Amino acid sequence: MIRRIFDEGMTRAQCYENLRVLCKDVGHRISGSPSAARAVVWGHQAMKATGADTAFLQPVMVPHWERGSVGLCELLIGGQSRGRLEVLALGGSDGTPDGGIEAPIVEVSRFTQLDTLGKAGLEGKIVFFNRAFPPTTISGFAAYGSCVDQRVDGASKAAAYGAVAVLVRSMTHALDPYPHTGVMHYDEKLPRVPAAAISTLSARKLHDSLAVGKPVRVRLNLSCRNLPDVPSHNVVGELRGTEFPNEYLVVGGHLDSWDIGEGAHDDGAGVVQSMEALRILKAIGYKPRHSIRAVLFMNEENGAKGASEYAAQAKAHNERHLYALESDRGGFVPRGFAVQDTGAFLKAMQELKPLFEPYGMSEIVSGHGGVDIGPLGKDGTRLFGLVPDSQRYFDHHHAQTDVFEAVHKRELELGAAGMAALIYLLDQRKE
Ligand SMILES: [Zn+2]
Repeated sequence: MIRRIFDEGMTRAQCYENLRVLCKDVGHRISGSPSAARAVVWGHQAMKATGADTAFLQPVMVPHWERGSVGLCELLIGGQSRGRLEVLALGGSDGTPDGGIEAPIVEVSRFTQLDTLGKAGLEGKIVFFNRAFPPTTISGFAAYGSCVDQRVDGASKAAAYGAVAVLVRSMTHALDPYPHTGVMHYDEKLPRVPAAAISTLSARKLHDSLAVGKPVRVRLNLSCRNLPDVPSHNVVGELRGTEFPNEYLVVGGHLDSWDIGEGAHDDGAGVVQSMEALRILKAIGYKPRHSIRAVLFMNEENGAKGASEYAAQAKAHNERHLYALESDRGGFVPRGFAVQDTGAFLKAMQELKPLFEPYGMSEIVSGHGGVDIGPLGKDGTRLFGLVPDSQRYFDHHHAQTDVFEAVHKRELELGAAGMAALIYLLDQRKE
């Protein structure tokens, strides 16, 4: 059966072509934008084309943040302009006042340094968070996890001591000119100061400038803004279960992306792989015992409202969700699956390893399922995440380089077939 699933997935896959259309015809698609609305229409059509028994839209209100047209940062050394630093506003950041903010720079790598510097060292300054991904940490996600607090909480941590803005080193291993955006949060008890990501090359330039000893200032100008929430949708497709139609298995990814690049790896890949898993099972004539749903979640990047709405609706309609599998770690060559468990269930899943060995996907490890299926997990659903190789993911993550061309056809297809195979095995499982 698993051989049949992979044979179908490696010969008649639709996922790569679907990804091309999503990336090139719809483009990037931040929540609340006109392109996110187009992505919903596209997703609904593409879901129907998988052969799903039903495909429907699930309404959800989502945040609406706009970058605007201005994102500039000028470096000033000893009062002289030394050109531009490459920056991108972080998602959720307020903009700068008209004319921008000009202030001296203070570089830190740890939040504890803020406490040491205190108000005397930080008031009226722009804080530059420059903690790099540790090269000795092998997992890209572990490296990300050890640095992303700067991006998420840096603005409010700095504002607590009177800083007027923050620049955050991009979340990537790569040394390149592309700033990587991503979500940030304000502590509402503190002033909301503007926050931007700075490319790793510009971070190096700024760091080297500070080492010279002359006064270093930057002029930051951001026109981003937060607007009222707007209506949007999750896209759902379903193969009806033959034995337990009101018990569900979910395979999903998120339909929204950041507002740069094309959201190809993050998470166009997960979107098209989830639909492909459904298509494969239908195409080989599989009659599932439980209902199997592919879900394209809206708003993972800056709110996860689609995730919480899906779980709330499942609860409200008494839809028992047994298992959920998410693909949101890029469309790279799949290595296996993360199981969000550390005990007997993980062990039981690890017994499936030999079935995935012929496809290079036998790493079945304890780990995070995914942001979009997280709320289902709180209601008892067993969670899984597709685990691709992580070395190149953060070259593209939330940056203008996350485009269709960065995704490899066979790697994408292998992941989709592996997801279909796991869903099949879970559907057959008798607990
Ligand atoms: Zn993602």
